[in-house]
Amino acid sequence: MKYETVIGMEIHVELSTQTKMFCGCANAFGAGENTLCCPVCAGLPGTLPVINAAAVDYCIMAGLATNCEITRHSLMDRKNYHYPDLTKGFQTSQLYYPLCRNGYVDIETESGVKRIGIREIHMEEDAGKLVHPDGQSCSRVDYNRAGVPLIEIVTQPDMRSAEEGRVFLETLRNILLCIGISDCKMQEGSLRCDVNISVRPEGSEELGTRTETKNLNSFRSAGRAIEYEAARQVDVIEGGGRVVQQTLRYDDATGTTSALRSKEDSHDYRYFPEPDLMPIVVDEDWIARIRERLPELPETKRIRYERELGIPGRDARMLSSSRRLSAIFETAMAAGAAPRAAANWLIGDLMRMLKDRLLDTEEIGFSGEDLAALIALIDKGTISSTAGRQVLEGMLDTGKPPSKLVEELGLTQISDADALGEIVKQIVRDNPKPAADYRAGKKKAMAFFTGQAMKRTKGKANPVLLQELFAKELKK
Ligand SMILES: [Zn+2]
Repeated sequence: MKYETVIGMEIHVELSTQTKMFCGCANAFGAGENTLCCPVCAGLPGTLPVINAAAVDYCIMAGLATNCEITRHSLMDRKNYHYPDLTKGFQTSQLYYPLCRNGYVDIETESGVKRIGIREIHMEEDAGKLVHPDGQSCSRVDYNRAGVPLIEIVTQPDMRSAEEGRVFLETLRNILLCIGISDCKMQEGSLRCDVNISVRPEGSEELGTRTETKNLNSFRSAGRAIEYEAARQVDVIEGGGRVVQQTLRYDDATGTTSALRSKEDSHDYRYFPEPDLMPIVVDEDWIARIRERLPELPETKRIRYERELGIPGRDARMLSSSRRLSAIFETAMAAGAAPRAAANWLIGDLMRMLKDRLLDTEEIGFSGEDLAALIALIDKGTISSTAGRQVLEGMLDTGKPPSKLVEELGLTQISDADALGEIVKQIVRDNPKPAADYRAGKKKAMAFFTGQAMKRTKGKANPVLLQELFAKELKK
């Protein structure tokens, strides 16, 4: 029997507001333990929360950027559970009236564009962090993260493969980076992803029992976890067993999942509306103000690249889907590069180099000005396009400007007619047979001559100039 994997995601995103969700403490990563806390975020009795309006703005921005409806009258709820890093004994979250609902994100897959539904985006706060020092028989708790504003983005179970999951995460992260509401660093935990996975016989409409896999700290581990967990569930079913609804932990080192706890349902948390906070009432003006603040979104960029700059559809989608790539592209154009040339370098050669180095587009170190300078060097004939590829590699690996790399790598094209003229004369003199052939009308002999000249100049001769010089010399 063939099985289909059904994947939904819950993505937690830490918002980059200046202060926390319900108090005035600074929202910052990497400060000394328990230096960014106050009685409110430490959960002391008698303290009262005040909602951070900037966090509400950011959540609405995320909703608008993912085509959601904005809930006009929304409430915060208490999610009750005990954990040492949860100062209040409950998390302030949203269950009944999430701020954003019914949106979608389009992703580019190998088989075309696919729409992934966004069920909701709700606001909540982060918990503190337990620290387990090596070799000590104690654990410490750091409350700096307690009360940091979070949004949780919940998708519909619309993804069907590890590849779709990875592309969705990348697309979503680029949208969030583009609107500037989070730094989305998976390694620092500002973007965290839990994956709900179930399998079912192909063609079946009914959903299988799902598990939730946590602790995915990179796009790669999300993809690997999906593949592992789907295969594990198929094994369980084929072996006559039943998949148990539970929360799993993914171990990146072994590439396997293990049970963390049995999965809770929402009624286990005894949710109830938060009595200490006012309802959030969002009117048309508020939404209009946020809409005005939104920068050009990747999708709008894509359409502009295609229609106004004549970039082919797939390339336009790739360029616009990465904040870093589109920034380099636009700066290169501003610095004088032709759109098609800039797009070709970024999509073709650079993508392959990134793949070889296991790098993300966010990690590209060179600037759009550098790319424009590289293209200008080729246009002027200073270097050949083959040498251009070497320079681009150098830019990626060292961050040095193209002119410096051309010099260091000795790639300057020989465009000096006098210097090349000597070589041309000599080659014609040394090869009377092909010269006679050429004069007798065998124009193909030209390839032999230019080949010889390239050999002598180690590929640095300007090919257009070479042909001119040989044609002149062979006429004599
Ligand atoms: Zn505080």
